[in-house]
Amino acid sequence: VGRHPTPQAGPQSVPGVKRIIAIGSGKGGVGKSTVSSNLAVALARKGKKVGLLDADLYGPSQPRMMGVSGKPKSNGNDMIEPLSAHGVTIMSLGLMVDPDKAVIWRGPMLMGALQQLLGQVAWGELDVLLIDLPPGTGDIQLSLCQKTNLSGAVVVSTPQDVALLDARKALDMFKTLKTPVLGLVENMSTFHCPNCGHEAHIFGHGGVADAAKELELPFLGALPIDLDTRLAGDSGTPIAAGDCDMAQSYANLAQRFID
Ligand code: ADP
Repeated sequence: VGRHPTPQAGPQSVPGVKRIIAIGSGKGGVGKSTVSSNLAVALARKGKKVGLLDADLYGPSQPRMMGVSGKPKSNGNDMIEPLSAHGVTIMSLGLMVDPDKAVIWRGPMLMGALQQLLGQVAWGELDVLLIDLPPGTGDIQLSLCQKTNLSGAVVVSTPQDVALLDARKALDMFKTLKTPVLGLVENMSTFHCPNCGHEAHIFGHGGVADAAKELELPFLGALPIDLDTRLAGDSGTPIAAGDCDMAQSYANLAQRFID
């Protein structure tokens, strides 16, 4: 992905970017990428200049969720031009590698690639850059949190106990790294049956709010299991770009990030 960044001591800022917020989860499949893309779109709809960096290097899903494709080009100044969709500036390693090939890289290569995606992409002036982290608490998350000047992190979890145990590990990692946790989001919270209106708690309900209270962290909101959210993500136009109740829920979530 171009030349290597110069190693420097201390956490790096990204020139022109006011706030960098990492979005993490204890394990995969809880909707971290879905929440990241929708939050990015919802913030953009509120007039914010938003960037989205897909750092989920082993399973980059932002190109599909945001509906972008094609290899980003160099702008002639040795910087990579990011792509743009739904008002959001986007970069993903998924755009730089063959989508059908598995990424088989050693840790240092992945970290080098990530540092480049932060430092050698022409992000421009941004109010906020959201980083969709890989799930869990591995070396990539650790190194990214240590090397990047983060304003804070958001943790996405399902209410299910197991997910929550994993989520606690992610929270613990941020605490150890002294990355402020801006709050917790409960995803796949409830399911409203579209036929009979019955509300089912497939993965439980309220567990994340309870954990937030116990850990004295802000609870940022609960998002239901919603077929249209999944379909929208698969189609490349996040649900937050529309006018439905879910879009409103994401607008409400986005409001929590606006001072
Ligand atoms: P992660 O980034 O945590 O691995 P994803 O965002 O990729 O999770 O979500 C995993 C799958 O679940 C995707 O197919 C996504 O569309 C779906 N999904 C995520 N959140 C919801 C939701 N609230 N309702 C329905 N499907 C969801």
